[in-house]
Amino acid sequence: MKYNEFEIISHFFNKHKKKEKNLIKGIGDDSALIKIPKNNILAISTDTLVEGTHFFKNITPENLAYKTIAVNLSDLAAMGALPKWITLSITMPKSNNKWLKCFSENFFKILNQYKITLIGGDTNCGPLSITLSVYGLIQGKKTLLRKNAKEGDLIYVTGCLGESAAGFFLLQKKKKIDIKIQKYLIQKHLNPIPRISEGIILRKFANAAIDISDGLVSDLGHILEKSQCGADIELNKLPISKKLTNNFKKNNYFDWALYFGEDYELCFTVSKKNIKKLNFAIKKHLIQCKHIGYITSKEKGFNLIENNKKINFKKTGFNHFN
Ligand code: ADP
Ligand code: MG
Repeated sequence: MKYNEFEIISHFFNKHKKKEKNLIKGIGDDSALIKIPKNNILAISTDTLVEGTHFFKNITPENLAYKTIAVNLSDLAAMGALPKWITLSITMPKSNNKWLKCFSENFFKILNQYKITLIGGDTNCGPLSITLSVYGLIQGKKTLLRKNAKEGDLIYVTGCLGESAAGFFLLQKKKKIDIKIQKYLIQKHLNPIPRISEGIILRKFANAAIDISDGLVSDLGHILEKSQCGADIELNKLPISKKLTNNFKKNNYFDWALYFGEDYELCFTVSKKNIKKLNFAIKKHLIQCKHIGYITSKEKGFNLIENNKKINFKKTGFNHFN
């Protein structure tokens, strides 16, 4: 049996049993209503994933549910916000119960892990594409913006870079490497972890932050542009794991780390006076990150440095219209 639009919504998406305390009205009316707690800022972000552009046609509904949530949460993580609510606009070519059951079950499984409530959306027929909007809370007044990096700040990156790219490569090309490493890297591509708890900690003492969706060069470039600064990045300090250095060519893994993106790690800057706070968070295992360079003046520009020498590099990352 094929469900119509309203049956799809009620069978697959109107599923929350427990009412969340700030939610006045969720799915089922002309709009959702939320009460914003006192002294909180509401953070809002939207992302669209389109078949053929952001994911392959043969992606499983489980992986699609994960990826679409993770890439959206990553944007809130970069603002230091705690995600609370989400809306889902789904466009699909046909009403396929098996696909919808699998997609929605995984969608709710992930939302429950993060304690996020689905509060509305839209359901349409057409080529497969998913748009999520996430809504999160920031307690107090301190924000974590791209524009606040200052000359002299230290630049850091969480986790490792280039692993999502390696996973993407392995999904397309056969390569003889250890099966465990292969699985790990593919997992990093399909199931990137949004750095939410890290963002919430960083908001207290970092100056600027961005999530790395389009590649370090492009995303750090946004911080530099908004902050009117330059940067010196040391190539040999980039967090590239042995999984890459032992199994791939140097050209490949540096290229992936700098330009591919989709690692969804955070790149952030911290002033010298706040380094103690960061080191304390690292010591307490609240955040894992690596120092990769310094913010400089705008006049000095954006430089990649290897063995004390500036190297030539492309200034752009992924861009939908290039
Ligand atoms: P309207 O025609 O007023 O836009 P819809 O019929 O599109 O309303 O949606 C009815 C209700 O179902 C709304 O609360 C809407 O937010 C919700 N909704 C629609 N599609 C989805 C979806 N894919 N996931 C969650 N909620 C949805
Ligand atoms: Mg509608």
